[in-house]
Amino acid sequence: MEWGNAVADPEMTPAEHRRRQKQLREERKRANGPVEKIDRAEIGDRDGWVCGLCRDPIDRSYRYPDPRAASVDHIRSIAGGGTETRDNVQIAHWGCNHERNADDVYASVEEAEAVRAEIARIPYLAKHAETMDPEEMMRRSQERNRPEEFRKMLARRVAKWELIQNLVFEAADPDFVFEGDDIEE
Ligand SMILES: [Zn+2]
Repeated sequence: MEWGNAVADPEMTPAEHRRRQKQLREERKRANGPVEKIDRAEIGDRDGWVCGLCRDPIDRSYRYPDPRAASVDHIRSIAGGGTETRDNVQIAHWGCNHERNADDVYASVEEAEAVRAEIARIPYLAKHAETMDPEEMMRRSQERNRPEEFRKMLARRVAKWELIQNLVFEAADPDFVFEGDDIEE
């Protein structure tokens, strides 16, 4: 969950909102501890270009926004108190990284409880926090974050991405005729 998130303000344009988000994230990074200059290629070389989430190799020829492109994943998210340091990042497919988002894996019940306690301090989430069970939180976060799960999610993203690429390709072809009649009901 992104604690540093700017609340969507109807007075703000999307660009202003993005700038505000970025600013909050930078502030959060500095508040979390030391900040190192992170270089994607350096992290990729260090990690042997194997995705830290799905554990499959990363082909460096893919470029964002292809879900197979390389990205830097924060092992402990910035929002969750992680630092911008080499020891807190790993190379990951952009799609896997996006699926994971800021979903931290709780290594212990104490860790999950600390997050639950944080949530309980937010007035409109306090009631919800009472229903959260740290043991269940830990179990579910570990289940969600298995390599097989990421592999499945990445495959779905790649299929969608390729479908879009095909549609764009077809739309650009002046001789393309939509043969809707061929589609079986
Ligand atoms: Zn991956």
